[in-house]
Amino acid sequence: VAAAQANFMRVVVQSESPPSSDGGGGTGVELLCVVRAVLKKIKRRVMVGDRVLIGSIDWVDRRGMIENVFRRSSEVLDPPVANVDHLLVLFSMEQPKPEPFSLTRFLVEAESTGIPLTLALNKTELVDSQAVDAWNSRLREWGYEPVFCSVGAKHGLDTLASILKDQTTVVVGPSGVGKSSLINVLRSNTHERVGEVSMRSGRGKHTTRHVSLLPLSGGGYLADTPGFNQPSLMKVTKQSLQQTFPERSNELEKCSFNDCLHLGEQGCIVTADWERYPFYLQLLDEVRIREEFQLRTF
Ligand code: GDP
Ligand code: ZN
Repeated sequence: VAAAQANFMRVVVQSESPPSSDGGGGTGVELLCVVRAVLKKIKRRVMVGDRVLIGSIDWVDRRGMIENVFRRSSEVLDPPVANVDHLLVLFSMEQPKPEPFSLTRFLVEAESTGIPLTLALNKTELVDSQAVDAWNSRLREWGYEPVFCSVGAKHGLDTLASILKDQTTVVVGPSGVGKSSLINVLRSNTHERVGEVSMRSGRGKHTTRHVSLLPLSGGGYLADTPGFNQPSLMKVTKQSLQQTFPERSNELEKCSFNDCLHLGEQGCIVTADWERYPFYLQLLDEVRIREEFQLRTF
């Protein structure tokens, strides 16, 4: 499923289709499909990125019906995309500058999916090499190997393209860092935008958020997800938060066997001498408050 619009899903045919009497069919053809009623009845959600079985195909009008949804290898809920292989967390060196706590929230949200991630920093041409070196060592201390790039100066794009090749990647990051610009330079020119999911955000605001999969020129897909730039941390729990800090994940995990939350408990092996410890504490508070609220509500 490349995209969804109201009651329709745009599905790109990927398997060899049997020859049809009306001359249609084949890999790459895009079909506009409805979802079989019984799937809706059993609340089987169809998401962008899903692999689906199509029946009742009309190759002339390019229509079909989604009969079933294949098992997902992974899913991201915010933005909703299935079968995601890889996450790209994109920030920029300038306009806007990386803000450490905001960056940590994005990384924690990405780590909590269990999907492999790459961290990239864009707009390197706006800063000097010392600034890049400083962020490079800082992020290595955090447990990451960042990729530095500039979409504007066309720097580091080959590296990114080779990382993204043949995978389905969701790009996340705050607004203004260059997500759309990056997607535009990497996407295949031979394909038009396949379509979009529009939906209203849950709170009754009439904000439109879109998700669509765009084919990359080197193979693979990028999920363009404008509007999803606030990590909700909804899937993060007190326990799972520990696994989202690679620089201390061993100690945090080892120590959490005795329900330790590493707040200075007696016998805790996690020391406070790492840069992001205050962020861990702050996020722990946030997650605890949310968990207590959920317990009281449900
Ligand atoms: P998004 O909100 O993350 O999708 O960001 P956009 O792709 O819309 O980019 C925001 C602004 O940053 C636009 O004005 C882009 O032209 C600009 N921009 C993107 N990449 C670069 C870069 O490498 N260098 C500079 N100087 N500006 C960039
Ligand atoms: Zn502890």
